[in-house]
Parts: sequence; structure tokens; C-alpha cells
Amino acid sequence: MSKPLTSKLMPENDALDYLLNHCETLQKTLKVPLEQAVGRYLAEDIVATVYVPPWDNSAMDGYAINTGCLEERSSPKVALSVSQRIPAGKSPEALQTGTAARIFTGAPVPEGSDAVVIQENCNLKSDAESVVEVPVDVKKGANIRRKGEDIKPGDLLLKQGTRLRPQEMGLLASIGFGEVLVYRKLKVAVLSSGDELVDPALMLDRALAPGQIFNSNRFTLAGLIDAMGFEWVDCGIVADDPDASEAALKSAAIKADCVICTGGVSVGEEDHIKAALEKLGRLDIWKLAIKPGKPLAFGFIGNNSEDKSNEQESETPFFGLPGNPAAVLITFCVFVRPYLIKRSGGQANLPLMITAKAGFDRFNKGLRKEYLRARLEVEKGGGQTVKIYSNQSSGMLSSACWANGYVPIKPGQKISSGDIIEFLPMSEWLA
Ligand code: AMP
Ligand code: MG
Repeated sequence: MSKPLTSKLMPENDALDYLLNHCETLQKTLKVPLEQAVGRYLAEDIVATVYVPPWDNSAMDGYAINTGCLEERSSPKVALSVSQRIPAGKSPEALQTGTAARIFTGAPVPEGSDAVVIQENCNLKSDAESVVEVPVDVKKGANIRRKGEDIKPGDLLLKQGTRLRPQEMGLLASIGFGEVLVYRKLKVAVLSSGDELVDPALMLDRALAPGQIFNSNRFTLAGLIDAMGFEWVDCGIVADDPDASEAALKSAAIKADCVICTGGVSVGEEDHIKAALEKLGRLDIWKLAIKPGKPLAFGFIGNNSEDKSNEQESETPFFGLPGNPAAVLITFCVFVRPYLIKRSGGQANLPLMITAKAGFDRFNKGLRKEYLRARLEVEKGGGQTVKIYSNQSSGMLSSACWANGYVPIKPGQKISSGDIIEFLPMSEWLA
């Protein structure tokens, strides 16, 4: 691995480019029933072989006619006999010249008709509903949905790598797919490093000993991985000890397609993950030019395991995130999330920003781009304003729960109340 900038602060985009350039997409694919495909990444291009709609059909309940029979009429309405009834699902006969066909939404229009008059504009002239009066100013083509107006054979509908949302599932069904080829669900191992950590499930009386804290990062990451549609592989807490760190990394690497560890990757003497990884594979530690989240480690853990049952690759990518909870959230979203998307066959897009009015003052006097935990609120009387949490410390997870987005602020940038600023909704990342 070529060494990126290690001593200088590394800009966010350089780090992201580097990560994506060192990301191999997992080549394992499988067919899943369509109803189980939401959130999965398509492993093939989808090219239509059919027409949607499959035939010209009525967009409304009404009467199918041929507008030719309305020409050169002196009165505003004309009476036509009703020659057939076409509910949805039935195949019609050709329209008899000079008549109307009763038709319902979605039913195929009969050959020889060129418009549907909506029933609200028609009057039935007989109790037997055999004669209908229609207006003469009906436009050719009115209320007819044409064969193939949505999809035609040969159309490239969805590209390999598309993440399937509910509408893509419906689209696939509309062209006759009952199952679809997708990439295998990514398995992401999570390790929490630190002697101070206690799993809340193991201490239900919530009585921590001095020096202990609850392991919150494990749960934040479980939620992030689950929300992305991936499988979370819990690898527990690793003690601040060289042998324990090495064993934990080895075992995590053979269970997953990527390993994420929080804590223990700065250069403190209790940070054993770094040393273990240098033994097992390779690792770079960057000082990122973002805040929160200065230290980030990225590397690969070599897999020498004899156990090939998991179709194990020769090495497993590794991320070491900072320990501080609010930094975990932002570094995952900015760096790990796009990496995992690419690894699982998708294409990571930069998050969409919206612009809104600042309801705060802030000057970034540091050297790092800050992601301020912020909240976009609708004002009484209309308009939207962005507020930021008063304490932006990287240890404060409550700030991220109050927030519904982030305000990026560059080094040297000044934001004053009333300025129109960029706001990144959290929904761009946490869905
Ligand atoms: P470290 O990166 O190990 O130096 O940790 C930085 C800070 O994050 C310390 O205050 C740790 O106690 C805290 N921390 C580390 N891991 C976790 C975790 N899993 N849950 C909550 N806090 C953590
Ligand atoms: Mg630690």
C-alpha cells in the first residue's frame, strides 16, 4: 500500500478517493425472491424484453369511441349505441363503427377506437344503458395510455449496482421479474477496543465501577450497518492488550468482508490495535482534516486461516475509527459508508445538501473542516432555520440525537445568523 500523507492533515476528499481506490467489490452474487430484494444491490443490468403497458388501455372509466364519428356534427352532443362492455382483464372485440364501448380503467381499448370519453362527461340515454350521449369535442388519443409508453423492449431500465428501493422492486415486477440477481449481503464485523468498556446487557443494574463506561459505539455501529442493509457481525470488546488485540482482529477478519474497530487507533501507548495490525497485515493512520474525527486507520488484515468455508479472501479490509462516539458517527458516514457501498456492489454518491438560513453565528478558526451537529426547524409562520447544538464535543452523543443533520464549515469560514448555508440532512446517511 502506498503511503498517503501521514504527518500532515489529510483532506476529506483525498482520504475518500484513496479509500475507494483501494476497495474491491465482492464478486459473490445470488438470486433472491423479488420481495426480499429491498435494499440489495443489483448484480446485473436490467434490460426490458416486454412493453409496459403491454397494450393501449384506458386511463379512466368511460366510453371508448372513434372520434371520426363525431366530425361535422352540428349539435354539441351525439348519441351512440353501446356495443360492448370491457372490464379490466378482458380482451375486447373490435369497435363496431359508429358505436361506443363501455370501458373501465386499465382495460384494453378496442381496435378501431381512438379516444376514451370519461364517464362524467357522458349521459346514458336509456334505462338499459344501451345508448350514451357523448360530447363532440373529444380529442383523438384522449385518456388512452399507449402500449410501451412507460417501457419498451431493449430499454436499459436499471444499471448493475443500483440499490433496489420499493419503486425499483415494483418496476422489476412490472416487466415480469419474480427474482433478481443481487450481490451477497456484506458482513461487517464490529470490534470495540478499550479496557474501560462494559456491555450494558451484562450490567443490568447499571452500576459501573470507577473508570468504566458503557460501550455505546457497538450499538451505534450495529444500527448504521443494519440501516445500510448489511449483516452486523458482533466481535465484542477487545482488551487493551497486544495478544488479545491480535487474536480479536484475526478472528474478526475471517468472519466478515470488512472489520471496523472503534478506539485504540491513536498513537497512545495503550493503543494496541495499531501494533497488532502492523503484525497481521498493513495499516495507515491518518490525521484527517475533519472534526470530529481526527484519527482514522485503514488497512488490511491477512487471512492465513485453513478454513476456506467462508470463501475467505486473502485479506480483509480494516477501519479503525476514533473512540469518541460522535466521531464514530461522522467518520462512518463520511468514509466507511461509501467504502461499504462500493464493496457491496453499489455506487456511493456524495450526500445531497440543501440550503437553509442559519440561526447561529460560528467562525471556524481551526485547520479542519467541521461537521456541526445541527437541526433544521420549521419556523412558526413559515420558513426554515438551522440551529446548531451548543456543545460540539466529539464525546457528546446526545448532540447527535438532538440533530437531524450537519452543517459543514470549512477552515476560516464564518457563518452569521441570517446567512444562507449548506445543510446535510442525516437522512442522506442513515437510511
Ligand atoms: P480512544 O480512541 O481509545 O483513545 O478513545 C477515545 C474516547 O472514546 C475515550 O474517552 C473512550 O473512553 C471513548 N470510547 C472508546 N470506545 C468507546 C465505546 N465503544 N463506547 C463509548 N465510548 C468509547
Ligand atoms: Mg482506548
